[in-house]
Amino acid sequence: MKLSKISLLATSVAASLAAVGISSLALAEEVVVYSARNEQLIKPLFDAYTKQTGVQVKFVTDKEGPLMERLKAEAANTPADMLITVDAGNLWQAASQGLLQPVNSATLNANIPAHLRDPKNLWFGLSVRARTIFFNTQKVKPAELSTYEDLASAKWKGRLCLRTSKKVYNQSLMAMMIEEHGEPKTEQIAKGWVANLATDVFADDTKMLEAIGAGQCDVGIANTYYYGRLMEKKPSLPVAIFWANQHAKGVHVNVSGAGVTRYAKNPAAAQKLLEWLSSEKAQNLFTDLDMEYPANPAVKADPKLLAWGPFKQNLINVNKAGELQANAVKLMDRAGYK
Ligand code: FE
Repeated sequence: MKLSKISLLATSVAASLAAVGISSLALAEEVVVYSARNEQLIKPLFDAYTKQTGVQVKFVTDKEGPLMERLKAEAANTPADMLITVDAGNLWQAASQGLLQPVNSATLNANIPAHLRDPKNLWFGLSVRARTIFFNTQKVKPAELSTYEDLASAKWKGRLCLRTSKKVYNQSLMAMMIEEHGEPKTEQIAKGWVANLATDVFADDTKMLEAIGAGQCDVGIANTYYYGRLMEKKPSLPVAIFWANQHAKGVHVNVSGAGVTRYAKNPAAAQKLLEWLSSEKAQNLFTDLDMEYPANPAVKADPKLLAWGPFKQNLINVNKAGELQANAVKLMDRAGYK
């Protein structure tokens, strides 16, 4: 009786130890990611990570708005360890809503330049997106171009195309201009752009680039990866890239990036994945998959991107895109930029 009781006890202790052991092992071998990036852009990265480390990565993809709402609603019960999204404006929103926790990592600080990560380490840029000037090669000579600000001057009257101000990319660009020039000057620039428009604002960068190619307008502003994708489909389009503000502060850059969620069940494993995403191997995959530039300056961009030539990035911290986003939205409204 006594013996069987002891052995029963021993068995149940062993069973609970095993349960603890198994569950902690399972936790250590899995990271759950909420991603606003498409499956086709993230799955190859996660597959490579699993192959290298044995750690499983589960992910849910949706638009950034619903994912952030979900993180808020789930709070401490969230299964998510990491949030991935595009645009520093969105990452700033997630951080300011308390959805992320700081990650103090020498690896991340070494791999990601200071202007591409949150000053409080709540998120890290993982790929760089350059938003620059494009022009119709039959109508404009590169020597006529210089800066975003110059596109507000009278010589571009009736020649400019822009994407809608509702898109976060333009809100971020405008926020960075507010940081550089202050609101009154930036508002003058926005008004100048609006006065120069050849046609209504476009719903997306690709349609705007096609309008430049069709001669509907001569110049515009877009992210380079849209140009890269379009030129693969229509290589004869008379549209070329111009690196803006090279004799000023540099091209406006933004990031796609990630942070560890505030209530991550597995913050250590999430940090390891984040560090790996900043490594050479992952950075090479990023640039191959979406024609974005590596955030890690030690990694070379895809040859297709290198063909567009080198450019100087604006080194203002991209966090400002978030901090000044609301001001930018109001300013564009005042300027009549739809
Ligand atoms: Fe985009």
